[in-house]
Amino acid sequence: ALHLAKRMGRVGTSPTAAVSERVRAFQRDGIEITNLGEGELDFATPDHVADAAKQAIDRHETKYTAVAGTAALKEAIRTKFRRDNELDFSADEIIAASGAKQIIFNAFLATLDAGDQVIIAAPYWVSYPDMIRLTGADPVVVSTTADQGWKLTPDALAKAITPHTRWVVLNSPGNPTGAIYTAAELAALLEVISPHPQILVLADDIYEPLRYGMPFATPLQIRPDLRDRILTVNGVSKSHAMTGWRLGYGAGPRWLIAALDILQSQSTSNPSSISQAAAVAALNAPPIFLQSWLETLAARRDIVLDMIAGIPSCSARRPDGAFYVFMAVSKWLATTGQTLGLKTDVDMASWLIETARVATVPGSAFGTPGHLRIAYAVETQVLRDSCERIKAACTPR
Ligand code: PLP
Repeated sequence: ALHLAKRMGRVGTSPTAAVSERVRAFQRDGIEITNLGEGELDFATPDHVADAAKQAIDRHETKYTAVAGTAALKEAIRTKFRRDNELDFSADEIIAASGAKQIIFNAFLATLDAGDQVIIAAPYWVSYPDMIRLTGADPVVVSTTADQGWKLTPDALAKAITPHTRWVVLNSPGNPTGAIYTAAELAALLEVISPHPQILVLADDIYEPLRYGMPFATPLQIRPDLRDRILTVNGVSKSHAMTGWRLGYGAGPRWLIAALDILQSQSTSNPSSISQAAAVAALNAPPIFLQSWLETLAARRDIVLDMIAGIPSCSARRPDGAFYVFMAVSKWLATTGQTLGLKTDVDMASWLIETARVATVPGSAFGTPGHLRIAYAVETQVLRDSCERIKAACTPR
C-alpha cells in the first residue's frame, strides 16, 4: 500500500498547527485576527536592497549560479564577518543557501546518524528538534528558566553531554525569549564543550543586529582555536526584513561546507540569483535604517511588557534582543484560567483568538509549556490595540 517513509513518523504536527487552524476558521468567517505569532518583521525590505534585485533582473542575472553562491555574494559575506565579527573566512569556508534554515537542516543531515544526539536549550526555536529527528538523531533538550535569563548554564550543559553528543546549538539573540549570551557566558560554555573533540557547535546568529543595547558575541570570535568545530549561521531574513527572499549563509570548516555544497547541489542548487544580488547590496551597505527599526521595536517591546505587568499572575523577563516576549502564564492558568476552564497554554492561545482576536504561540511549541510567545513585529497601533484586548480578556472583572 501507499505509505510515507519511516522517518516521517519521527516528526509531529507542531502545537502551533491547532492555533493556525483556529485563525483560519475565524478568517473564513470574515473575522479579523491580529497575528502576533509570526516570526517576521513588518518593516519593508530597504529600498536599496529591493533596487539591487530589480537591477539584477534587468541585467538578466536570472540563471543558475555557483551552488554555494556567486563570487560577489561570498565576498560580501566575507566582508560582513570581518567587519562585524572580526572573523576571517576564505571563499571555500562560506556557503549561501535558501535561508539560514537550509544551512541548519543540511548541517544536521550531513553529520548526524541514528542514535546521535544534539543538545538544544529550551525554550528552543521550533524547527531544531524536528530537523534533528528527521536525520534519525535525537534532540537532547536542556531546560532553562527565566531566572537564569533563559540561558544554558555550563553545569546543565556538562550534565547533558554524552559520548553520542554531536552538536550543541547556541542561538543568541534567541527565539523565543530574546536572550543574549555575553562573551563570558559563551566562553564558559565553550570551555565545557572543548574537551569533547566529537562535538560541533552551531552558532545561530540570525538575530544578531536586533539588540536593545547589549553587545554581540559569537562563539568563533571567542574561541578561534575551535575553528574546525564551529558552524556560524546568519542571514538577511531578520537583519534586513527579508524573510520572503530566502537567503541565509553559513561559515565553517572546509570539510563541512563542502558537504553542505554537495547536499545543496543534489537538492535545491543555488539560492535564488535575484535574492543573492539583493543580499550583496544588503551586506555591503551600512544599515542606516537599523537605528530607527530598533527604536520602534524597543517601544513596541515596552507596550507588550506594560500590558503583561497589568495582568494579575502573568509575567515576562525583559528580552534583550529579537522581537519576541515570552510571557509566563502558568499562575494565571491556575487562577483565572481555572475559572474559565482553561488548563494549558494551548487552551489559552486558542481562547485568546476567540475573545481577544489575537493569535500568539503557546510555549509548548518551544518545549516550555505554561508560556505564550508574543511577537511584536506588527504596526505599533495595531499592537497597542491587540495588547488592550489581551489585557481586557485576561483581567477578571
Ligand atoms: N534560526 C532562528 C532562531 C529563527 O528564528 C529563524 C526564523 O524564524 C531561522 C533560524 C531561519 O531563518 P531563515 O529565514 O534565514 O531561514
